[in-house]
Amino acid sequence: MTPTTTGPVAVPPDDVVAAARPVTVAVVGSTGSIGTQALDVVAEDPGRFDVVAIGAQRSVELLVAQALEFRPRVVAIGDATLAADLAARLPAGIEVVAGADGLAAVATEADVVVNGVVGFAGLTVTLAALESGRRLALANKESIIAGAPVVARVRRTPGAEILPVDSEHCAVHQCLRSGRRQDVSRLLLTASGGPFRGRKADELAQVGVEEALAHPTWSMGPKITVDSSTLMNKGLEVIEAHELFDVPYDAIDVVVHPQSIVHSMVEFVDGAVVAQLSLPDMRLPIGYALAYPGRLGTAFGAIDWAELSVLEFEPPDRSTFPCLDLAYRAGRTGDLAPAWLNAANEVAVQAFLDGRMTWSGIAGVVAATLDRYDAPPSAERTVDDVLDADATARRHAGAVVAGWSGS
Ligand code: MG
Repeated sequence: MTPTTTGPVAVPPDDVVAAARPVTVAVVGSTGSIGTQALDVVAEDPGRFDVVAIGAQRSVELLVAQALEFRPRVVAIGDATLAADLAARLPAGIEVVAGADGLAAVATEADVVVNGVVGFAGLTVTLAALESGRRLALANKESIIAGAPVVARVRRTPGAEILPVDSEHCAVHQCLRSGRRQDVSRLLLTASGGPFRGRKADELAQVGVEEALAHPTWSMGPKITVDSSTLMNKGLEVIEAHELFDVPYDAIDVVVHPQSIVHSMVEFVDGAVVAQLSLPDMRLPIGYALAYPGRLGTAFGAIDWAELSVLEFEPPDRSTFPCLDLAYRAGRTGDLAPAWLNAANEVAVQAFLDGRMTWSGIAGVVAATLDRYDAPPSAERTVDDVLDADATARRHAGAVVAGWSGS
């Protein structure tokens, strides 16, 4: 249809202007679960996104394959001893940077930085992306939890923004777009309940690593899968939600929803609840973070409403899964207590994965470590404060693990 009015040439909306060139993307942790899925998303729409940098800790083989496919300008390797081998296998013209600084440098290279690093090591990437005023597509929840006092400050850098790549927080982000902030009464984070839902503490005393890694609905890396089995993942997500959306802990609730179709909900003051539903696939939150405020043109599967007959909801079993309340406790304590919680949990989960401790010991190690929490007050936290808190908590947790009798 031809426009019938004449007048000044219309200025295209911002997203049309932005679409004139591809959105540049850096993927840190590109060989992990989130990183490989982020590259899948980009590969679906190569005209819209351009991968300019990738980085991983030590998976040289896969990094080389990804570099050959996506042709980034820069490839980072966290383990500097592997840099020469990596460089020798890459085509000329691709720059190799090494070490933790190299991974952080990658985070300043693009319009959107996907932080898919596992664990506390992701903090430097988060800070580098925000300090350089980038959009951070954040899958590394540990950095916003442990680094909360510092991340809250660097988030105010002009241009910096965080788009959560966590299905629950991506859902909350979407639901919040339907109303005013002052009209929000509650966030409801959904939890699948993990592989041990419905089981009691005495049945779980001797569960092994394989059982903990058998997640019913989500396919993820080992650390987060164990966290799902203890509900620590949900506890960390409660803190993450508090930090991301500035909602008090009393207004963040957890609801167990085994089908993992409702990814979270926002309740408004008039009692209306807005939910986001989709199949459990991390490529949706990744694509949302890359395409926001638009939408990815690709759906990674759609709900079959003839097939989906039941959506169940139940309260979490807080006595069998004490990690949930340990996280609320650390969150309410605030300051560096979430850093302690996170560090203790990382130590305990690694000990469990290594066969040095039982599954039920994870909560015990975290509780014993939090009992020792101590942080001298400070008006303005620095990165060093966060690193110190992490190291101190790891030391305490390590001592608890070493003294663990396995009972
Ligand atoms: Mg999640």
